[in-house]
Amino acid sequence: MRGGSVAVVGGSIAGCAFARAAARGGAERVTVLERSPGHLEDRGVGLCVLLDRYDELVLAGHLDDGIRHHPLTTRHWVAKDPAGTPRGRVLWVQPMTMHSFHWGVLWQGLRERTPERVEFRPGTAVTAAGGTDLAGPAWVETAAGGREPYDLVVGADGHRSVVRAAVCPEARAEYAGYVAWRGSFDARLLDRLPGGAAHWPEAEVITACYPGGQVVLYRIPGLTPGTTLVNWVFYAPAPDWLRTAGGTDPLGFAVGSLDAARRGELAALAERVLPPYWAGVVDLTPVERILLQPIHDLETPRRTAGRLLLAGDAATLVRPHTTSGAAKALQDACAFEDAWRAAEGWADLLPGYDRERGAAGRALVELSRRLGRAQVTGAPDWSAVDGPAMAAWWRDQLGASGGFGGLALERRPNPAGPEGR
Ligand SMILES: Cc1cc2nc3c(=O)[nH]c(=O)nc-3n(C[C@H](O)[C@H](O)[C@H](O)COP(=O)(O)OP(=O)(O)OC[C@H]3O[C@@H](n4cnc5c(N)ncnc54)[C@H](O)[C@@H]3O)c2cc1C
Repeated sequence: MRGGSVAVVGGSIAGCAFARAAARGGAERVTVLERSPGHLEDRGVGLCVLLDRYDELVLAGHLDDGIRHHPLTTRHWVAKDPAGTPRGRVLWVQPMTMHSFHWGVLWQGLRERTPERVEFRPGTAVTAAGGTDLAGPAWVETAAGGREPYDLVVGADGHRSVVRAAVCPEARAEYAGYVAWRGSFDARLLDRLPGGAAHWPEAEVITACYPGGQVVLYRIPGLTPGTTLVNWVFYAPAPDWLRTAGGTDPLGFAVGSLDAARRGELAALAERVLPPYWAGVVDLTPVERILLQPIHDLETPRRTAGRLLLAGDAATLVRPHTTSGAAKALQDACAFEDAWRAAEGWADLLPGYDRERGAAGRALVELSRRLGRAQVTGAPDWSAVDGPAMAAWWRDQLGASGGFGGLALERRPNPAGPEGR
């Protein structure tokens, strides 16, 4: 199919990937409407993509091998022991090959690779979208006023999607009952700890477990080439002050919006529940580099309606334990581009995409709930487990379908090539 006008609402990971896919597929006009006026890259921290998913996405032309990343090869599960061993007792060394990214570096890479003829409109908040009837046009309304018609509107507008409200208004994100504190800092600061950076090989992911939560720590590339950051995600019960502020569906706190007292509470929790070295790592983080994210998930019964289509987190939101948020968004773009190339008209394009990605998205949400229950809210007694028990526990969580890091995507190489624009 060639021609047509496409509006992409949201210019983050899914938005950039869909804009590129639509342009490569042959859309005549592609416009990205992004609410944020400035540079998004300053707001992100770390994320990982499993090597198998990474290779598939590179082959399919939706991820560029040139985007800076950091190789990770093993995941060490540890827990505090009574002897006070600095790195804790090793529960299991799990082989796991992934690449870690700085969210901002990944976003910049995708943004730079978006074809020039795609029009980006930062600072444009979409307030409503419609077009559930294939016989009429799709449209968006923006905060500036006015309604703009398009042949297709893609909702890549994340967790609280405006486009989703038109596609499946009944879908609601559910609060998982716990939060993730996230932080990052310059890896050179590790030398301030007893044992220094040498205590932590660069390719190791650490998961430090405690009753009621865990902390996942790994290195990522810094925004500036040649620099490395430490990144961590600390799953924990919601602090009392957050529950009071937000009820059962608390809102997050962005990087830089936490005060010293709240940071102090986090440091005290880390000291109480983590092996000393990992508590020290969390404590090295400057308050302005910490954010708090209540964990939610969301599945949708459908991801298309008429001339509207959902992508990335707008379509399905998974808890971060699956390590799949970015890969899932890029896989959605692969499926969309394939469906576009195979379609003879709009009536074929949307069902083709829905068929391929709908079930996969729902399976991933379910997996993320199982992982959250097994690792956080219903975690085992860590003092009683060893390597074989951990390996069996992990297999139980994955079930027959697997899917950690995102389900495999059967793809042929993209006709536009890995670097295709
Ligand atoms: C600034 C930022 C930093 C992030 N950092 C991390 C990170 O460090 N680690 C991690 O694992 N995940 C991070 N994420 C989330 C991650 O990008 C997603 O989980 C995943 O990659 C899927 O991306 P997405 O594009 O579907 O959704 P999102 O990344 O959530 O993007 C949605 C985009 O839509 C825009 N938007 C929302 N509503 C409207 C509207 N009404 N009109 C116009 N635009 C709208 C938002 O500003 C945003 O840019 C971050 C997201 C953002 C936006």
